[in-house]
Amino acid sequence: MLDTAKVTAKGLRRWEAGHPWIYRSDVSERPDAEAGAVLVRDSRNRPAGWALWSPRSEISLRLLDPDPNAVIDGEWWHERIAAAAARRVGLETVTNAHRVVHGEADGCPSLVCDKYDRWAVVQLMSAGLEAFRAEIVAAVVSVTRVDGILARNDVPLRSKEGLPRETVILHGDVPREIEIDEYELRYLAAPWTGQKTGAFLDQRENRRLAGEHARGRALDAFSYHGSFALHLARNAESVVALDASEQALARAAQNAELNGLTNIEFVEANAFDYLRAREREGEEFDTIVLDPPAFAKTRASLPGALRGYKEINLRAMRLLSTGGMLYTASCSFHLTKPLFMEMLEAAASDSGRRMAIREIRGQPVDHPEVLTIPETGYIKGALLEALD
Ligand code: SAH
Repeated sequence: MLDTAKVTAKGLRRWEAGHPWIYRSDVSERPDAEAGAVLVRDSRNRPAGWALWSPRSEISLRLLDPDPNAVIDGEWWHERIAAAAARRVGLETVTNAHRVVHGEADGCPSLVCDKYDRWAVVQLMSAGLEAFRAEIVAAVVSVTRVDGILARNDVPLRSKEGLPRETVILHGDVPREIEIDEYELRYLAAPWTGQKTGAFLDQRENRRLAGEHARGRALDAFSYHGSFALHLARNAESVVALDASEQALARAAQNAELNGLTNIEFVEANAFDYLRAREREGEEFDTIVLDPPAFAKTRASLPGALRGYKEINLRAMRLLSTGGMLYTASCSFHLTKPLFMEMLEAAASDSGRRMAIREIRGQPVDHPEVLTIPETGYIKGALLEALD
């Protein structure tokens, strides 16, 4: 049959274990079809469900529906996206920006959809998914009632799928800046040019937590647009918002102004150098946030990344006043939860401080981490207190 894929027993076992991907090496008969939805059969030719088919990718098949009688059409996508949106009901009371679809975790493999006020930003990250662009756009508009949809399809992953990298409007229009409300703080998202889809929505609850515990002299060491710094500034006396990027800090300053916060100082520096210098000067902070970029972008870079994470954490621990709080995070997928904890233990041990775990943190409700799909989880966080 033309639009069917046949997969090995090993390939199918992944599906049965709750993971939606089947790799190229586990496809025993490749569909003679363009990218799109295909019916998948097991080694004995029994139908096993529908999947997105990506002819050029190493991830050949992404499970959509285990029901062989399912029809993957506009209505199907509408149902999936509506179910994902329904899971987030309640978030509107705390923010006007949240993730509506978190890819595989929401049964919509390789699709990300973030809602910023009256607009949506999507990422279509596989060739199979791209074939349903029109259906997805229609479903997003109908479910979220947004005025415009921007595709931030500029991610490197698209190249592996043989897809062009581009930032394009798919529906209506989307402004360059959108004002976000988050626990009564305001900041500007930059959907066209900002990191990810325009802001880091995934740390929302952790920003709030860090803000609640903030006091005295505070430091936000990888501040980007200052979103942690804003939360800290509500309870701390003064905040240093530090970033290596002048542009990011300019936006952070704009965000502080938007909230009438005048106790934030913006410092352009390398966080490694800054932390080392403050330690040398014998300075202290009562609150520190470390939310660095992913140091481990690949598995191979993990050892070097671990040294980096350990160094900033160790220095931050040394800089804390007695009773001081550190919120520390990693968004490297390759740095697993056990490795993250091991790194913190090693840093605490070398710091000479008695560090207590106050909270172990992860992802918010709109970025569900599914146990059987490790790729849906990447944020690890810990709130630590220096006991003496
Ligand atoms: N905490 C932010 C996200 C941080 S993104 C939030 O919740 O919105 C990572 C930021 O770290 C980027 O703005 C980048 O410019 C900055 N950065 C990367 N390497 C750095 C370094 N060595 N020193 C200081 N800032 C750095």
